[in-house]
Amino acid sequence: MKTLLVTGGAGFIGANFVLQAVADGLRVVNLDKLTYAGNMQTLQSLAGNPAHVFVQGDIGDRGLITRLLAEHRPDAVVNFAAESHVDRSIDGPAAFIETNVVGTLGLLEATRDYWRGLDEAAGKAFRFLHVSTDEVYGSLGAEGFFTETTPYAPNSPYSASKAASDHLVRAFHHTYGLPVLTTNCSNNYGPFQFPEKLIPLVIQKALAGEALPVYGDGMNVRDWLYVEDHCSAIRRVLEAGRLGETYNVGGNSERANLVVVKTICAILDEVSPLENGKPHESLITFVRDRPGHDRRYAIDASKLKDELNWSPAHTFESGIKATVQWYLDNKPWIQNILDGSYQLERLGA
Ligand code: NAD
Repeated sequence: MKTLLVTGGAGFIGANFVLQAVADGLRVVNLDKLTYAGNMQTLQSLAGNPAHVFVQGDIGDRGLITRLLAEHRPDAVVNFAAESHVDRSIDGPAAFIETNVVGTLGLLEATRDYWRGLDEAAGKAFRFLHVSTDEVYGSLGAEGFFTETTPYAPNSPYSASKAASDHLVRAFHHTYGLPVLTTNCSNNYGPFQFPEKLIPLVIQKALAGEALPVYGDGMNVRDWLYVEDHCSAIRRVLEAGRLGETYNVGGNSERANLVVVKTICAILDEVSPLENGKPHESLITFVRDRPGHDRRYAIDASKLKDELNWSPAHTFESGIKATVQWYLDNKPWIQNILDGSYQLERLGA
């Protein structure tokens, strides 16, 4: 059985990835610091499963990583761990540098030393996969797409920290020969997402009949990918990606934020109408824009399709319906989060 060391596997995408990997017969050692974004509830279904080992700790803790690698002898490391919310990076960038840059460096150094000690066959088969974002490329105008050769131009402290980590991963390949892969993905949505992010935030506020905050004019465009599709893309890159390469991952689903919010409203009008009979759209409220808000992201994922034969299984329409339904069916999951320190307040204004 193959073993993966997954970091950040109690967060949104990492946990979806862990659940999928264990279901597919992989063994996962899951290292997560359990920041506000890490959530053991999400991993409840794996309790007692010997194919999942959870360890609370920091990716920057070289001693801990070295011990985990020596004990579990993974065939690959998949690095999801990060501070991930742009608005929080505006309020406090230091934590983003600490984890996304310094932490990734610690993880890379410990992994390099472990990889150097492997026998020839294991060393050749080993992979370090770094999960990154399309936000490193900056902002697009009305036309065009990000490709793997688009120059980096990060605009937020979050994207700057992710860009720095991508460069470190690249440098570890060129300098030390570490067998790395990097994926740069567009906006994810789906089950188990912390409700600070647009889609779960809007679902929660709409269900509560509260104002739905839309930043600026609502015309900022993002490409949206259902989280299961992101996880399947990572698995595909892990299996067959060319060493040292980066792969853009996208859903071919560009939508303006206002369209995303209106789509959620229309679904909720059908499945959970407001008591006062008004459409959920009547709750939309335009609020002050995010400082430095990138206007448009769009992904050209043809390299991943042409080289590795990957495409998303979900359209935006099927994914968003499934997502709204998931949040309706899993109210205790979200309620437990909202009973803590975060109550859907505006961040990063
Ligand atoms: P998330 O914030 O939901 O989860 C991050 C997880 O990392 C949490 O469980 C947290 O506890 C853990 N963590 C934070 N600091 C840590 C540290 N120092 N050591 C160990 N664990 C730590 O984030 P997400 O949305 O699941 O994103 C996962 C990865 O995917 C990130 O690297 C992010 O940059 C990238 N990404 C996210 C999106 C998106 O739309 N959410 C899109 C593209 C790429």
